[in-house]
Amino acid sequence: MTLPTISTAFDFVCYGCGLEEPAGGALACPRCGEPRSLRSLATAAASLFRQAPASMWHYRQFLPIVDARNVVSLSEGATRLVDVPRLAAGLGARQLMLKNEMQNPSGSFKDRQVSVGISHARELGKDTVAVVSSGNVAAATAAYAARAGMRAILFMHGQAGAGKMAQAAAYGATVIRVDSPSPSVVFDLCIEACARWGWYHLSTAGMYEPYNVEGAKTIAYELFQQYQGELPEWIVAPVGGGGLLGGIWRGFLDLQRLGLVNWIPRLCGVQAAGCAPLKQAMDEDTPFLETLRHPWPNPKTVAGGIADDILFDGHTVLPAIRQTEGAAIAVSDEAIIAGVHRLAREEGLLCELTSGVVIAALEQLPVGPEERVCCILTGNGIKDLQHPALKPAETPLIPASIEALAEIMKGLL
Ligand SMILES: [Zn+2]
Repeated sequence: MTLPTISTAFDFVCYGCGLEEPAGGALACPRCGEPRSLRSLATAAASLFRQAPASMWHYRQFLPIVDARNVVSLSEGATRLVDVPRLAAGLGARQLMLKNEMQNPSGSFKDRQVSVGISHARELGKDTVAVVSSGNVAAATAAYAARAGMRAILFMHGQAGAGKMAQAAAYGATVIRVDSPSPSVVFDLCIEACARWGWYHLSTAGMYEPYNVEGAKTIAYELFQQYQGELPEWIVAPVGGGGLLGGIWRGFLDLQRLGLVNWIPRLCGVQAAGCAPLKQAMDEDTPFLETLRHPWPNPKTVAGGIADDILFDGHTVLPAIRQTEGAAIAVSDEAIIAGVHRLAREEGLLCELTSGVVIAALEQLPVGPEERVCCILTGNGIKDLQHPALKPAETPLIPASIEALAEIMKGLL
């Protein structure tokens, strides 16, 4: 991929070898071959990061959109930080907070990335965007394309959930199911289609598209404001391709460059045991480009949102974890389902199965008694209610009589 020249407020950085160059030209690093990332060179008064944002576009000068008139927004970001003391007590940590990304307009953190990506597509004069998705990116793309008056073509792979496909279709997008369990195979198809018909490739995969992932950085900026500069020792997030956690890390690097923080929290990426290329790469200390040669065979998990067979953002998520002395954790499907139920029943927060991995991972997290933990709750559980794992047990149907109710309530009172 070759980039057009963009605002001089960004350069290109390679986290593989450290090369820094003006942005533009080939995405692949000329020295080591890893995909490069955009990096903001903007400066801002510290007060910008101490004010509560109305939306993530509060940080617009750190996002790669040249003309503000091209911004396509549904008021994404500015999500709440929720204290969950009962879960914290069970974990043995001093404090556990959840960054509630379920509050975003289409119900997941992907709205941040798609808002940036579709604004960039508009800046390029594109009228059609295409993505590969298990669900959340598709729903976000469909929503923002509708907002922008663009056409959205959604390639849903074998990990896509029925509820998320229905959500995406409701916004009027063209939904195409591709008969393959492998996201990387479907990416090849989407990229070929974009080249043939001139569509903008909006998939949230930094190795192909470095713009939209910039939206994930705003989570780090918001956390700085919400923690009033006293960041937690650990941040835990689900990892599929890795763009979320890599983006949060790069947001903290921005804050470090601006002198607002002098250390970065330890970052923990969580995957499902049935598809865990990050955990494998960390355990075996595999370089990013080498991981691409070994896609995870036959991804299989209830956490379809992170069933990515390769690390599409491994060039940022691997250094994010390695440089912050973080961790990679894999959890079973049983633990994921139990995590979703526990969060819903103990704290009243119903997250999607993919988000359940962070709750499931807490028992394995090497957290000290004086440490604080923040988990990113990436997507809304309402999207997954058609999934067999979340279907409710049989509910009773009774006539409207107190006797019939008394019969049902026997043993429940
Ligand atoms: Zn390099």
